[in-house]
Formats: sequence, C-alpha cells, structure tokens
Amino acid sequence: MKEQIDLLVLLQEKDQTLDQLKQQIRQGPEQIRELEGQIETLEKDFECEKGRIKELRKWQRQQEAEVEDGAAQINKAEGRLLAIKSNKEYQALLIEIENAGKVKAKKEDEILHCMEEIERLNKAHKDKDKSLAVNRESFEKEKLAIKNKVTRGQKQLCELEKRRADRAKTIRPEILSKYEQLRERGGDLAVVLVENTTCSGCHLNIPAQMYNELQRMDSLKLCPHCNRIIYWKESTA
Ligand SMILES: [Zn+2]
Repeated sequence: MKEQIDLLVLLQEKDQTLDQLKQQIRQGPEQIRELEGQIETLEKDFECEKGRIKELRKWQRQQEAEVEDGAAQINKAEGRLLAIKSNKEYQALLIEIENAGKVKAKKEDEILHCMEEIERLNKAHKDKDKSLAVNRESFEKEKLAIKNKVTRGQKQLCELEKRRADRAKTIRPEILSKYEQLRERGGDLAVVLVENTTCSGCHLNIPAQMYNELQRMDSLKLCPHCNRIIYWKESTA
C-alpha cells in the first residue's frame, strides 16, 4: 500500500501540472479578447474625436459664410447712406449698420475660439494617432506571444497526458477510481498527508485508532471529515 500511495502522490503532482497547463491554454483566448477590447475602446475614442473636429470645422465654415453675408449687408447699407436725405432715416440706418457690425464682430470672435479649439483637438488627435499605432504594434506582439504560448502548451499537454496515462496504469484500479472520483468532486487535492494527527486537507484531527492504523499503511484510508485519501509519512526531522 505504501508504494501505491507514493505512486498516487506522484500522479496527483502530474495532474496538478496538467491542470495548470490546461488553465493557461484556456486563458490564452481570454487574454487576446481583453487586449482586443482595449484597442477597440481606443479606436472608438479616436473616431469620436475625429467626428468632433469635423463638426467644428463645419460650424466654422457656416459662421464664416454668415460673416461674409453680414459684411456685404454693411457695405450695401453704407452705400445707401449717401443717397439718404432725411436725417431721421440717416440716423436709423447708422444704427442698423452699427448693430450689424456688432453681430459680425461677435461671430468673428466665436470663429477665433472655434479655430483655437480645433487646433487643440487636432494636436491631441495627432498624439493619440501615434500612441494608437504604438499600442496596435505592441498588441500584435503580445497576441503572437500568447498564441505561441498556447501552441507550446498544447504540445506539452499531449506529452504530459501520455505520461500521466502510463503512470495511472501502475496504480490499482480500485484506488485509481477512488482517486478519480475525488478529483471529479473538484477543488484541490484528493490525496493528502496527515501530519501530527491532523489531515492537511481539512485541518481536522484524525481519531487516534485510525491514526495508528494509518501509520501501518496496509490499507487505503479516507479522512472521516473530508473524505480525502490520507497517508502518513515518517517524520524526517
Ligand atoms: Zn480531512
């Protein structure tokens, strides 16, 4: 039985390595999806800014056209001034010209602000364009590294599974099936050491009678609390 337990512990170590490897392989595509999501967010943000700049430019052109119209109207009104005879009409037209001038000046001011905003956004946009390119490049590198790791892991997995199957053949079927059953239950270890009468799986004490039997290592023993396969080792200390 002692030899069987030793083999079982070794099998369990192999299974743990296999589990870790399988997890690594599973995580690969997840990591890639996460990276893709990050790039997508950056790209969306980038496109959104591009749209905002376009909108501002359109608004600027509209305002400029309106300023031109205003200038033409003022010109026309100034031309009409020369032909007016009545003082009252003259004064009224002067006020009209003055008001139109104020509207035009206000629009020109707004255009200036808009241009400043466009310039600021353009600069930020160019910086983002650069960092996006850098991000895309490092993303592609990282993606490739993850894919390579997964491919390597899959190859390794095949080999390890073969070796694991060979090892399993050295264990008696009834012990192996108990072990497999415990493993299927999920969670951590199926075979655990008992140290100083304590099960290292559930940290509860093994009854004295059972502990004595366990030390003889002549039959398969299960922890009465957590049902794991338990074994005992002579202290090396
Ligand atoms: Zn236990």
